[in-house]
Amino acid sequence: MKKPEKKCEHTIKAMCIESDGSFNCPQCGMSISPDDVNDDNYQIMDTKVVNDELAELVIACGKCGCIIKLTGFQQGFDA
Ligand SMILES: [Zn+2]
Repeated sequence: MKKPEKKCEHTIKAMCIESDGSFNCPQCGMSISPDDVNDDNYQIMDTKVVNDELAELVIACGKCGCIIKLTGFQQGFDA
């Protein structure tokens, strides 16, 4: 198991993600697609579900180990 020495963290708003759900790692630029079942590209660390809707997805880049938080899935809601 790989253990990232340095922890970097980025937050990406879901509205900034391509319509197919893919995005690039802000750190190393690797293309990450949550729909990709091949989890060599990333690792799901945590998911936060609110009212049966995905509110936050925390993944780790499989290449550089950066933590990437995807937020803002519930665009219709005004908190
Ligand atoms: Zn990366």
